[in-house]
Amino acid sequence: MSFDDVVELAKRRGFFWPSFMIYGGSSGFYDYGPLGTLLKDNIINLWKKEYAREGAVFLDTPVISPADVFRASGHLEKFSDIAVKCPKCGTPYKLESLLKGLGITEIAKTVEEASAILEKYDVKCPKCGERLKNPYDFNLMFRIGTNDLYLRPETAQGIFINFKNIYNYARNSMPIIVCQVGKGFRNEISPRQALIRMREFSQAEVEVFYLNGDDFPVPDSYADLSLLRNTGELQKMKVSDALRSGIIGNRVMAYFLNKTYDILLKLGFKQDRIRAREHDPGERAHYSSETWDFEYLLDGDWIEIVGVSDRGTYDLGRHQQFSGENLQIDGKTPKVIEPSYGVDRILLTIMDSSYYKRDNGYKVLRLEPHIAPVHLAVFPLQKKDNLDRIARDLFDRIKAVDPFIFYDDGGNIGRRYARQDEIGTPYCVTVDYQSKEDGTVTIRERDSTSQVRISMDELIERTKYFPDSFTELFKQ
Ligand code: AMP
Repeated sequence: MSFDDVVELAKRRGFFWPSFMIYGGSSGFYDYGPLGTLLKDNIINLWKKEYAREGAVFLDTPVISPADVFRASGHLEKFSDIAVKCPKCGTPYKLESLLKGLGITEIAKTVEEASAILEKYDVKCPKCGERLKNPYDFNLMFRIGTNDLYLRPETAQGIFINFKNIYNYARNSMPIIVCQVGKGFRNEISPRQALIRMREFSQAEVEVFYLNGDDFPVPDSYADLSLLRNTGELQKMKVSDALRSGIIGNRVMAYFLNKTYDILLKLGFKQDRIRAREHDPGERAHYSSETWDFEYLLDGDWIEIVGVSDRGTYDLGRHQQFSGENLQIDGKTPKVIEPSYGVDRILLTIMDSSYYKRDNGYKVLRLEPHIAPVHLAVFPLQKKDNLDRIARDLFDRIKAVDPFIFYDDGGNIGRRYARQDEIGTPYCVTVDYQSKEDGTVTIRERDSTSQVRISMDELIERTKYFPDSFTELFKQ
């Protein structure tokens, strides 16, 4: 299973590992190591650039909010999962995952329905075999101490309550696209699969405020988005056709589904392992009237990585009602489309999707060069005959242009290539005996393993335009 291999690689090579391990760990929390931290930044930066191109603005608001915010947003009342605890061994389960794991497709919207399903299928505790009963609603928000304060379960509310500030900042123009990257906290009943279900995780959220959907063009690029409708029908089609035939509810939703798909492809996801799945009405969050999840096929299971929801006027309407502030424009409440990206899930699934084994068994992460944590590695062929000094000097010169590089003179050259392949470094530069004669070095490309020889001066020049200048080099 590639997923287990990827998690093993991630822990061993410094991408991420479970938190608090010297104290026995605590489920649902992960630390990013040196490489994971860089990879995460690169994913976020690509995302930021893509939304900046759309004219978006960015916010950074507190992770702690007073209960008033979540009373208005509906999270205090409705942000819960149905849980069931084994009366014998005490293991807690999220009902939805438990039923899915047992192949039961019925969905319970209420505790009463959940009770009936448990009884009908005679559901037993997978751990100890005891019959499960008495399901209950479990609010996923973390409350802080005895104060009326909560850790936010999504970054979105910080954006909604700032709507008027942003509107003023934007000199009263609409539509407005507001983004925020930050931590979200959910007291998940059963955290699992490393970064897939955590209790503290990073979201990159976008709230698109608009009055008139016609402000957005109809996208017609990117054919072949796989759409799984809630009727069970799976269709590959252009987003524009899906809009025209009413499969996608409105133009703004279509525009941002298209945008999200574009970003996922730029991050390096392959088309055949991504689909957009429409939520059933009963499955949607309390604020949504239409939701499409972008899902990635991970070890045979489709996992949500981005959720795109039509939140309509729900949030601004509720905050206006609860705060008494006027959040309308010319008497109209703006509507909202929200693409919400899970950064950790994207990081893990992009590692999974770029993982492969060469014929000789060596592992490679074929990360897109623009998100790779290390851009270039520099090696002396031998640690003698002055080659190491030349390589060190070259390393320092490159570092002045691009500091995300790595120097390695340990072990034979094959091992050094393999170590870089495993962490996704796209190019390795080797200083050899010819370098001493004519000032040239070899550059080896990770996926093809082909090599070209160029001068050190040209290498420095090309580093300024990483990665396109390197891609070009291997096209010739
Ligand atoms: P949601 O608001 O539930 O649609 O979440 C938005 C995105 O955040 C999802 O598409 C996931 O990628 C991510 N996400 C949600 N819950 C978790 C979690 N417990 N751990 C990691 N990522 C999560």
